[in-house]
Amino acid sequence: MERRTLLKGAILFIPAGGVLRSVARAAPAEPADKPGDTSNDKPGDKYDPASHYYGMGIEIEKCIGCGLCIQACKEENDVPREPFFCRTWVERYTIKKDDTVVVESIEQNRNPRKGEARSTHTVNEAEIQRTFFVPKLCNQCENPPCVQVCPVAATYTTPDGVILVDTERCIGCRYCIQACPYGARYLHPRTRVADKCTFCYHRIVQGLLPACVEICPTQARVFGDLRSKASQLVRFRRMKQIAVLKPHLNTQPKVYYAGLDGEVR
Ligand code: SF4
Ligand code: SF4
Repeated sequence: MERRTLLKGAILFIPAGGVLRSVARAAPAEPADKPGDTSNDKPGDKYDPASHYYGMGIEIEKCIGCGLCIQACKEENDVPREPFFCRTWVERYTIKKDDTVVVESIEQNRNPRKGEARSTHTVNEAEIQRTFFVPKLCNQCENPPCVQVCPVAATYTTPDGVILVDTERCIGCRYCIQACPYGARYLHPRTRVADKCTFCYHRIVQGLLPACVEICPTQARVFGDLRSKASQLVRFRRMKQIAVLKPHLNTQPKVYYAGLDGEVR
């Protein structure tokens, strides 16, 4: 099911605190402290993208579907308030007693600061076998079709493994949006260029965590440097049974799921 058909809920908007205007190829700033084991650098070293390689882990059992990550991402990255536009979203999977599956995008919580989830279930409770939540975002693929199809090389991979869009180069042709098998991109209605998750690149080059990771109240999202043995993500991959979305497509995602049900696509 297309993401656009899933996004039903109204999303509250709070004006951006730190707004990402453009992610260009400029050299990143000096790093600050490293709160999330995301770096091989010593504090004070100049940030060297070639010494890092970033990914994310998501633990399905920990996600409570509160939607705080969606809210934090919108605030941090100047994502339009309408539910259709998302850099990250959360799907609720409902397995019914007759083994059919219903997938719905969760509605933004009533009070994002209190983490209250709103029930948007369209399935009758008596029919439910089990439910779970699956947060989704750009998989920062190692073999990204979005990069391959871009006719002006506006979409590119950084040395530290993040797929970015050069907003100065992007001509808004939507080829990358069509090519992404995960529905992770959209055309920004104001800038008219392609937009998607950047792992909050402007934050991670300063040693900060992506906004969605920082705000998650259950630590369902784990961010880290795959080149650092001390990284939380490396431990997460070692300790858990890991799966990625649509592995048969050979996109080689760097968003790793623990506890992913076979029903998830
Ligand atoms: Fe590109 Fe989509 Fe892969 Fe992200 S998930 S790197 S947008 S193909
Ligand atoms: Fe949004 Fe940053 Fe999370 Fe990506 S990593 S979904 S940009 S908050």
